[in-house]
Amino acid sequence: MTTDPDCLFCKIAVGDIPAEIVARGTHSLAFRDVAPKAPTHVLVIPAEHIGSLAELAADHTELLADLVGVANQVAVDEKLTGGYRVVTNVGPDAGQSVPHLLLHVLGGRGLGWPPG
Ligand code: AMP
Repeated sequence: MTTDPDCLFCKIAVGDIPAEIVARGTHSLAFRDVAPKAPTHVLVIPAEHIGSLAELAADHTELLADLVGVANQVAVDEKLTGGYRVVTNVGPDAGQSVPHLLLHVLGGRGLGWPPG
């Protein structure tokens, strides 16, 4: 498994930086966003270092299914019965601020569409 010793979210994945972890999958973990943009805001990341969705390849099929499965499980655990949004930002124009693939799971009242 590839990890980047300089990557903030790799450090969270290996436990070197604390986070409020709410779920784990075979290849993924989920933790609360430190600066939530919605009443519920959880990040789901692969344990291995992948820079963004743009770096996913055909041999990541199992990892991607695990990532989405954990996102859906978070929505169940967080009781987002009214619905939720799953977002991933790719690159600077989309506002990606951490260069490690992540799914934002956003829920609760007041989710606007389209996002700003
Ligand atoms: P993005 O900008 O799409 O790459 O998303 C990165 C997210 O990570 C932002 O919503 C940040 O608030 C969040 N974030 C940054 N540092 C931490 C941290 N140490 N623990 C939890 N969330 C973080």
